[in-house]
Amino acid sequence: MNLRNENSGLSRRRFLASTVAATTALSAPAVLAQGRPRVVVVGGGAGGATAARYIAKDSEGAVDVTLVEPSRAYYSCFFSNLYLGGFRDFASIGHSYGALAARHEINVVHDWAVFVDRDKRSVELAGGASLDYDRLILSPGIDFRPGSVPGWDLSQQNRMPHAYKAGSQTQLLKAQIEAMPQGGTYCMVAPPNPFRCPPGPYERISMVAHVLKQANPTAKILIVDPKEKFSKQGLFEDGWQRHYPGMIERIGPDFGGDRVEVRPSTMEVVVDGEAMTVDVCNVIPAQQAGRIAALAGLIDESGWAPVVPHTMESRADANVHVLGDAALQGDMPKSGFSANSQAKVCAMAVRGALTGSTVFPARFSNTCWSLIGTDDGVKVGASYEGTDEKIAKTDGFISQTGESEETRKATYEESLGWYDAIAGDMFG
Ligand SMILES: Cc1cc2nc3c(=O)[nH]c(=O)nc-3n(C[C@H](O)[C@H](O)[C@H](O)COP(=O)(O)OP(=O)(O)OC[C@H]3O[C@@H](n4cnc5c(N)ncnc54)[C@H](O)[C@@H]3O)c2cc1C
Repeated sequence: MNLRNENSGLSRRRFLASTVAATTALSAPAVLAQGRPRVVVVGGGAGGATAARYIAKDSEGAVDVTLVEPSRAYYSCFFSNLYLGGFRDFASIGHSYGALAARHEINVVHDWAVFVDRDKRSVELAGGASLDYDRLILSPGIDFRPGSVPGWDLSQQNRMPHAYKAGSQTQLLKAQIEAMPQGGTYCMVAPPNPFRCPPGPYERISMVAHVLKQANPTAKILIVDPKEKFSKQGLFEDGWQRHYPGMIERIGPDFGGDRVEVRPSTMEVVVDGEAMTVDVCNVIPAQQAGRIAALAGLIDESGWAPVVPHTMESRADANVHVLGDAALQGDMPKSGFSANSQAKVCAMAVRGALTGSTVFPARFSNTCWSLIGTDDGVKVGASYEGTDEKIAKTDGFISQTGESEETRKATYEESLGWYDAIAGDMFG
């Protein structure tokens, strides 16, 4: 159902108000008398950093929180496309963990979690240490499914970058786009469902087109796509027609978009048996839950970790919660906004279980903004509630084609406010 957004003026203040309300439970006496209960959070991204921060902040020291994250700076995938398009600089999408340690007394450990012993309730780290927990929260994001694009594996990511985990990959893709010969071809191999950020590949196409239109106007963009349709398709295709006519071609499954192979050594893309040479090839493979979820024995045959919507606890283990992209939860898209929203529900549930604080019914929300061209922003979003079966959508909204320039500019500006708000909510 495509409804217009009744709440279209979502500002930084309202984002915080709408999503924080669920966690303002009253403090209650600690139920674990001996020592502070220990929470270990694995993954310091949209889900993990938010959960760690909310548990530490709202428990006011009653819970001992450790965050395990290998990177010393988190580069957000959200707005990484705007960096590719020249609308943000790289530093603006990077965030440190300093305030989580200094302001919220979270024990930030820069290491990889390599195993979870659920019987002993202990997490092993690559460096050799182990961390015991009363509750474990995993928010490891995604990993790529081996073999999903024949010819591509991680050893080829420098020749054919994915840029679907932000950081050096994003910088590499930008450098490759800027180095394209005049009239050259940029190709994207788009992923099958489900994958993180459903509009993400198509916002990226818009941003690449924006750059090429100025620097390389005879260049071509090719999307090889295994999906029949994609998120906000009508809005993107309308925008591409208006801003970048004749530049973008999409090959869907009817024409071999689901039968693709790549040859990185010769920069060839083979679609339905027909090889073509391209100058940049952005391969976004099929995805599954970050590997630690599998090592912990929490995923099912789908490759994702089933969770109980009311608390985000794993269906395999009530002492472990899984958030964000890695979770198999129902109707929410895999987005930073969703992960942040799920993290607050989870933080409230964990705090309630460990300290006896009040737990309110789970409510979730999501909005995904995309930039198509300068000041031309669109969005899709929804509200959700936890049912016994899944996180279920209750209502939704989407931008419309033909909206005024003022509306599109306001939508883009909303997204700027959201970015500042979620960054503060994760790392502030
Ligand atoms: C191009 C692009 C654009 C996007 N745009 C948007 C947008 O506009 N809005 C939006 O809401 N979402 C957007 N997203 C989606 C968003 O980035 C993800 O959905 C979100 O980051 C998911 O949060 P997460 O906590 O599950 O994973 P992440 O944010 O990826 O965090 C996972 C963290 O876990 C760490 N980790 C993994 N394994 C381990 C381990 N074994 N031990 C310790 N740490 C580990 C990783 O280092 C990482 O820091 C976009 C994504 C892409 C790729």
